[in-house]
Parts: sequence; C-alpha cells; structure tokens
Amino acid sequence: MNFKSIRVRVTAAILMCAVVGVVLFEAFWLPRLNSMLTETQTSELQKGVTILSEGLLPYLVSNQIGAVYETLQNVEAQYPEWVQVSLSRPDGGQLYPLEPLSELQGDYLFTESMAISLRGEDLAVLSVVADFGPQLQYFQNEQIRIFFIGMIIVALILFANIYLVDRLITRRILMVTEAADELADGNYDAVLPSGPDEVGLLAKSFCLMRDRIRDQTAKLDAARVRAELALEARSRFLATMSHEIRTPLNGIIPVAELLRHSKLEPSQFEKVDIIVKSGKALSAIVNDILDVSMLAGGKLTIQKVEFSPNELVAEALEVVRSTAEHKGLKIVNAFNAPADIRLHGDNSRIRQVLINLLGNAIKFTESGTITLKGFAKPKPNGHIPLHFEVIDTGIGIPDDAVSRIFERFEQVDGSIERRFGGTGLGLSIVKDLMDAMEGSVSVTSRIGQGSTFTLDLELEAITTPPVPKAESGIEPLSYSDHRTALIVDDNGINRTVGSAILTKLGYKAELAENGVVGVSKAQDKKFDVMLMDMHMPEMDGLIATQKIRETDGPNAQTKIIALTASVQAEDIEKCRTAGMDDFLSKPINIKNLTIMLSD
Ligand code: ADP
Repeated sequence: MNFKSIRVRVTAAILMCAVVGVVLFEAFWLPRLNSMLTETQTSELQKGVTILSEGLLPYLVSNQIGAVYETLQNVEAQYPEWVQVSLSRPDGGQLYPLEPLSELQGDYLFTESMAISLRGEDLAVLSVVADFGPQLQYFQNEQIRIFFIGMIIVALILFANIYLVDRLITRRILMVTEAADELADGNYDAVLPSGPDEVGLLAKSFCLMRDRIRDQTAKLDAARVRAELALEARSRFLATMSHEIRTPLNGIIPVAELLRHSKLEPSQFEKVDIIVKSGKALSAIVNDILDVSMLAGGKLTIQKVEFSPNELVAEALEVVRSTAEHKGLKIVNAFNAPADIRLHGDNSRIRQVLINLLGNAIKFTESGTITLKGFAKPKPNGHIPLHFEVIDTGIGIPDDAVSRIFERFEQVDGSIERRFGGTGLGLSIVKDLMDAMEGSVSVTSRIGQGSTFTLDLELEAITTPPVPKAESGIEPLSYSDHRTALIVDDNGINRTVGSAILTKLGYKAELAENGVVGVSKAQDKKFDVMLMDMHMPEMDGLIATQKIRETDGPNAQTKIIALTASVQAEDIEKCRTAGMDDFLSKPINIKNLTIMLSD
C-alpha cells in the first residue's frame, strides 16, 4: 500500500476519526447516558411513591383497608418495574401484602420508602422496590444496534470516499502528472482532465502554462536557429575576411622579407623592416580574430600529436627571442623536464599560448628578465602534469584588473591614449585554449615589480621510442640549380611570391595557374617539391593532389606542401587525406617553409 497516495491518506484519516469517535462514545458518552437514565428513573420512582402515599392517606385515616389493598394492587399492575410494593405499620407489622415478602435479587434494584403520617403521627410506611434492569438492558441493546449501524455507515463513507477520491482527485491528478512528464519529453498534446473543481482549475492553469512554454520554446528555437545562423555567418565572414586579408599579406610579408635579405642601404633596410614587422603584426591580429570566432562558435578542435615539451619551450622562446633582445631584455629558460620525455597533446596550441604570454611579458616590460619556468613530471598513472610560469619584471597588473584581463577586449588601460598596442584578445584566447585542453591559467602580479602567468595542464605520456627526425635548420637553404619546384596557384601575386622565395632557397620554380595545368605539368616532369594552393578554379588543390598521387606518374611520391590562406584544423585534415605532406598557411613564413623543405 502506498501511504503517499491521497486516497490512502484520506481513507486512513476517516478511519481514524471513526475509531476515535467510537472510543469516545464508548468511554464517555455511554456511561454518562446510563447514569442519566438511572437518575431519571430514581426520581420518577420517588415521585410515584410520594403520590401513592398521598393517595393512601385518606384510606388509612378512615381505616378502609380494602381500598388500600385495591389501590396497591392496581399500582402493581400499572407499573411492572415496581417489583415489590409493601405497606407496614409503624411498629413493623405488615399490612400489604398479606403473604411474607420474598428476598429479591438483581443488579439494578432500587428501594424507595416513605412514612405516611397525619399531623406528625405515622400511620404506616410505604416501601417500593423497582427493578431498572430490563430498561437498562433494552437501552444497552439499542446502543449496540446504534454502534453497528454506525459501523456500517462508516464503511459506506469509506467506500464512497475511496471511489470519489479516486474518480475526482487521484486519477485526474495522475493525468496532470503524466501530462507534465510528457511535457518534459516535448509532447504538448497530452490529454488533461476537465471540470469546474480544483483539479479542473489546476489542469486549466497547467494547460495555460504549457501553451506559454510551447510559445516560448518555439520563440527560443527560432531565436536559437537565428543565432546559430548568425554565428555561422559571422564565422564564415571572419574566415573569408581573414582569407582575403591573408592573400594580400602574402604579397607583402614574404616579399618584404626577401627584400630585407637583399643588399640595402641602412635607411632602406629600416623601412623594409617596418613593412615586415607591420605585416606580421597585422597577420597576428587576423589570426587572433579567427581564433576568437572559432572558439566562440565551438569549432576549435584540439589535436593530439606527439611532441617534446623541451623542444616546444625552445621553439616558443626562439620566436620571441629577437624581439626581447631588441628591447634589451634577458630571456631565461628555466624549464625542467627529462630530456627524452614526449607527450601527446596539441603542441601548436600550447606553443601559441606560451608565445602569447611571452609576447605580453616582453611588451609590458621595459627592463629586466623574462623567465619561462616550469616542469613536466611523470605520474605513476602515465599522465604528466605540465606546469609553466611566464615571469616578467614589468609594469605589473593592478589587483582590480586581474579578474577581467582574461575577458575578451579587456585591457588594464582601455583608453585611446594607452601606451601599449593590442586588441585585448590575446589572454581571452589563452584562457579559452587552456579550457579546451582542460587546463588552467592564472596570474599573480605586483605593480611595478612584474607579473607571473601560470599554466597547468595534464597530458598523456608517450612510451614508444621516438621516430627519428631529420635535423632541420632554419637558415635559408641553398641548393644547386637542378632542384625543381612546381607552384600551383590561381593568384598571380602568390605565384610570383612563391617563385621568388623558392628561387632564393635555391630552387628552379615552374608555375601553374590551376589544378588542371598543375596535374598536366606533374605528368610530364619530375619535381623535387610542389606548393599547392587549396582553393582554385577549374580544379582545386585537393583533387589535383589526389590525381597526382593516384596516377603512377613521376610525382606520385613527390612532397606536396599545401599552401592556403585558410588555417582551420579541418582544412589541414582535408589536405592530409588528399595526400599532401605538409601544410603552410599564407602569408608564407619563409622560416617554416625552409624547415619543411629540409625534412
Ligand atoms: P592585448 O592585446 O591588449 O595585450 P591581452 O588579452 O593579451 O590583450 O592582454 C590584456 C591586458 O592585460 C593587456 O592589455 C594588459 O593591460 C594586461 N597584461 C597582459 N599581460 C601583461 C603583463 N605581462 N604585464 C602587465 N600587464 C599585462
């Protein structure tokens, strides 16, 4: 039995009231009724005896004994409960009845005696014995009957209650409950009870609420779809815009870099250097914006590749070293990890985070040292906690700003006249990337003394022996003229830039303006390397690569490097699936291309 059910509870309450009622009736009310009845009968007896005494007096005075007898016999016949009526002289001699009095037995015998006297002289004594037993017995029988009738009424009330509570309340409330469950599952059409009573009103309110939820959900769904479309459109727009900005940047940065390496007057070098640095700064901003859009759209995927944390730290420091030294800052590598340790994780994102923090440290430090401290200590479960601290001796961050600098577009000094440049996106990207890698970033800082940015994350350790890697120099290579390259790109500037870089690196470059031409050239002649643009009219770089790999031509094994202004992880994946060996984003980074060519 379910004691939580309304039906059971109401039934139990009625049953309890009935039991309490019966107990009270039996324990208090019945004894009280009995005693009241006895009192009434006693008083009736007294009255009867008094009236009889007064009736007998004249007969006794006139000594009419026959009339006395007649009167007493009549009375005995009239009152059957007067089981013994007797009259005696004051001296004790019995006048009535003539026969001697018998001994009476019974629980409810009451005796009333009264002296009949005239002017103070007692003439006789009247005694009446009444038996109230039969009346009390009758009364008790009635009580038992009433009790059983009461019980039957209680049972009927119980059954009626069970039936009514079930029909009117329980079943209908269960219908509302089921409708609520269905509502949670997205069904808005479950049947509800109707009626003018409270449950009907409850169902009506529920129905109203359900209609509102249906409307709100429809509105929310529509808003969500609109927001998703807007987000999608924004991401597409940002991706397209960054693609469009990268393409002209590819005509600026690598060309300016090549120019910077040519023989220049000091004043010319300075100007070209400004072009290179400005181009790179613009490229970094475009990358940040694209990252933010991908993080906001949940499109960023975390890669898992094998890497060495020591190499990662060295690479990150290498990237920022020249800027730091240019400012007169000392760079200290205090990262401590076993030399042969290798991890599984997104090395390029960790490197990006470190470069970002190191870049900020250099930007906000006028003099002193930038230290990259940390460790990678294997744990018994095969996981390796990776800990980094980027410590600077710069301007520091005020306490009230510490909590907001990880928000998008937040800067300590947000005014137009601020001393340092930047978009306020870097640390938000750092935070989002660390969250995506299930790590954390935090900062402690003292104004005028410096800041420490701390990174913590846990990666899996790799236990298999490392794949030997060819030594890669970062200096431009110089090969003899017989090394050849094919550049497949629909953009004339990109072809010219690629050709200029490859020529500088010692290659003889041939050009193709789309995939079809590229495939045909690849069938005619063997090349040492190919730079393949991804997006081209006629035939894109992916299909062209597949065709080159499929046909058993001279370039089936040639290294193909994807060249694209799109930098999304899914693009890299597509290139690899198509059969490309490496991926280079535009604007071309000559150092990275040199490393890829030497692999
Ligand atoms: P920004 O592009 O403006 O540098 P960030 O998100 O990288 O954007 O940094 C946000 C703000 O946090 C910076 O503008 C700067 O005020 C503060 N900040 C970040 N790193 C440091 C640091 N190492 N020392 C002092 N202030 C810093």
